Amino acid sequence: MAKAIRINRTGGPEVMEYVDVEVGEPGPGEARVRHAACGINYIDVYFRTGLYPQPLPAGLGMEGAGVVEAVGEGVTEVAVGDRVAYAGRPNGAYCDVRNMPSALLVRLPDAISFETGAAMMLQGLTVQYLLRRTVPLKRGDTILFHAAAGGVGLIASQWARALGVNMIGTAGSDEKAALAKAAGCSHVINYNTEDFVARVMEITGGEKVSVVYDSIGKDTFFKSLDCLRPLGTMVSFGSASGPVPDFSLAELSSRGSLFITRPTLFSYAARRADLEAMAAELFAVVASGDVKIDINQTYKLADVAQAHIDLEGRKTTGSSILVP
Ligand code: NDP
Repeated sequence: MAKAIRINRTGGPEVMEYVDVEVGEPGPGEARVRHAACGINYIDVYFRTGLYPQPLPAGLGMEGAGVVEAVGEGVTEVAVGDRVAYAGRPNGAYCDVRNMPSALLVRLPDAISFETGAAMMLQGLTVQYLLRRTVPLKRGDTILFHAAAGGVGLIASQWARALGVNMIGTAGSDEKAALAKAAGCSHVINYNTEDFVARVMEITGGEKVSVVYDSIGKDTFFKSLDCLRPLGTMVSFGSASGPVPDFSLAELSSRGSLFITRPTLFSYAARRADLEAMAAELFAVVASGDVKIDINQTYKLADVAQAHIDLEGRKTTGSSILVP
């Protein structure tokens, strides 16, 4: 029997149940992975609350790292005994052992611990495509990146510095702002106490920024558009404060022919060759020390409710993991 988190209904953290589940032999194209750790991501909250619908009952969690115990028919990507990590569907990573589509598994370099692997796959691959694929950023570019002290945010702060990109971060407290600044942001704005549009104007001498990365959604969306210079790009990649309301395309033309995209990691990493290239680049920046994965919260699998309370309560910084 395996231990796993299941939900039978959507709602608050209390809907997550710690239960025994049967894990059979891996089917064709699957590998059984025994987790050493699994990652906690904001997207897990969207599935738990029902903002992102899924058939119920269901598992939760999209990220883990561990050892391959068995493989099904036709598996070529990994072998029994491999150290692996992954980020992706189906939900169900909050468990000690599971079967996963082997096409989503990547071998974890020996120099990277399971905990780091579990913490960084979803957030690190996200930063890879945001900074390297969605917009081809150049040395000297100035960007605005919200929630810079969070899991995605602290990785982005460091990666942007390594790329020579001036990242203006935002964060919800002075302590978080200090953390993001130390990680590599050129400036950090406490958006709970300061008007971030006015501060961006001030910092950039009225030039504004070429790209805004907005994962906050409802509370920041239109103000984020105000921070973009003409022909700038809005990358709306999350909704921590709630979904972005419907809007008119005139919001883009009136601010100067803005571009907008609403990307997801899963479309960027859908092809195995892209996943491997993105993971290789992530492993390289971690191995070189340019990006350090800050695991600032570790919880027991059975204590996942507290992990979600802390994440939604904006109490966490950096990455969070669960250990079986
Ligand atoms: P974080 O660790 O960044 O946690 C979310 C942070 O959002 C909080 O710590 C908080 O930071 C900030 N926030 C602002 N307003 C709110 C609010 N009303 N409620 C809760 N939090 C708020 O999470 P992740 O690193 O896991 O993810 C960051 C974002 O990126 C999420 O929105 C997630 O959905 C998105 N994402 C999107 C992906 C994609 O491919 N599209 C992939 C991965 C993540 P502060 O207190 O400093 O404001």
